[in-house]
Amino acid sequence: GPAPEGDAPVRDWIAQHGGTFGHYINGEWVAGTTTFEVLEPATGKSLANVAQGTTADVDAAVAAARAALPAWQALDDHARARWLYAIARGVQKHARAFAVLETLDNGKPVRETRDIDVPLVARHFSHHAGWAQLLDSEFPGYHAYGVVGQVIPWNFPLLMLAWKVAPALAAGNTVVLKPAEYTPLTAIRFAELLHEIGLPKGVFNLVTGDGSTGAAIVNHPGVDKIAFTGSTEVGRAIRVATAGSGKGLSLELGGKSPFIVFEDADLDSVVEGVVDAIWFNQGQVCCAGSRLLVQEGVADALFSKLRDRMERLRVGSPLDKAIDMGAIVAPVQLDRIRALCQQGIEEGATCWQPSWSAPQDGWFHPPTLFTNVAPSATIAQVEIFGPVLVSMTFRTPEEAVALANNTPFGLAASVWSENINLALDIAPKLKCGVVWINSTNLFDAAAGFGGYRESGFGREGGREGLWEYLKPSRAHEAAPLPAI
Ligand code: NAD
Repeated sequence: GPAPEGDAPVRDWIAQHGGTFGHYINGEWVAGTTTFEVLEPATGKSLANVAQGTTADVDAAVAAARAALPAWQALDDHARARWLYAIARGVQKHARAFAVLETLDNGKPVRETRDIDVPLVARHFSHHAGWAQLLDSEFPGYHAYGVVGQVIPWNFPLLMLAWKVAPALAAGNTVVLKPAEYTPLTAIRFAELLHEIGLPKGVFNLVTGDGSTGAAIVNHPGVDKIAFTGSTEVGRAIRVATAGSGKGLSLELGGKSPFIVFEDADLDSVVEGVVDAIWFNQGQVCCAGSRLLVQEGVADALFSKLRDRMERLRVGSPLDKAIDMGAIVAPVQLDRIRALCQQGIEEGATCWQPSWSAPQDGWFHPPTLFTNVAPSATIAQVEIFGPVLVSMTFRTPEEAVALANNTPFGLAASVWSENINLALDIAPKLKCGVVWINSTNLFDAAAGFGGYRESGFGREGGREGLWEYLKPSRAHEAAPLPAI
């Protein structure tokens, strides 16, 4: 196969910093009072030490963002757009380093970070450069929230940063961002990039740390809006913490998205779709098609094709460009996946895994298929957030819709049929924010993404995403009602 992706330049970059990184506040690097260790999922070895943000660090970052606000908002739209284009170009210029750094930090295949994560990041910034120039014409009477606090997860570290930072800056906000504690390194490299291109100080501030640092941002009175992506549990706590504070809030949370296969579907395409739905990023995808719902007549044929395909999935070092699945982000996540699989077996479902092997020291999990699953089983209801596919069968389209909607979540769904009328009839009956037809896990900077119910609220991407970072101007609020 091809040679593994070279990681020496990225490891050199870490070494040049003495293996330790601080916060980026008001255009300067600030050492942490304490640090924590970031580990490499594919080897279990130490990768870097990163500052643990305190309330004092968050105070400083919010003060810097507040101070930077007037000048940032006074820029004309075209000037702000130029900064966003410069960020997009900077990401493209350093695309290889970002991809390798993300792979080392998160454990996901370099094929994905190189071909999916990093190109989508650049695209997100250039797309929002366009919106920056259209604010006055497309959103009259609206202006930026002010200081935005953003807290993001570890599954798409740099992409989730882009989804949050690009619209916030385009709309004229300033930012305090906290990356996830497992995967802070691409956010740190991103802050370095902003410094290199000369973004005005205080417009983007980075505070690293764990959930307590995130809570300090959420609770800070100087923050005007919170944007969060992560677990439903933490999202609920943030909603409680911000209630009555007057802060804006958007939440992108968990999911248990259905992948619905009708008996007239092209089963070979379905198999490749399933691979993308649940084994992309080791299944650590909020909108992963984690529940396979198959029409009874084709269930056995599909499971058989699927098992053949699973035998050919390669699990291993994510720097190997021929690998399909890399490592799970952290031991606690791996333990959780294993415990849920065990519970599935105890509750009577059939577990199947292909023969597989992986490096000894990393945190790997094989692709896993559950059949004979009761709709009320724990594995059919709880988000596993790993490479575990839970399947159920149905007889009629009505039954498929009922099964699909039978969870507290509502993020995404995927419908597979050669009968477009059937697919279009089903799609609006599914309670979720995104429906893909004969496809899955497609994202575009121009399309709003987000959930309903316990998957959260608010949209990211495109025109809908911009609304999350705008509020009515006072003049607009005070405008007299038209005479009747
Ligand atoms: P998590 O909720 O534990 O952590 C997410 C972020 O919140 C991290 O940065 C963490 O440090 C921070 N945090 C933790 N406790 C906090 C608190 N009390 N106040 C403020 N911040 C706090 O989730 P995770 O384990 O990092 O991510 C996995 C989960 O995220 C999954 O459930 C997945 O479905 C969800 N997710 C959703 C989307 C989406 O777009 N809807 C995208 C990615 C991940």
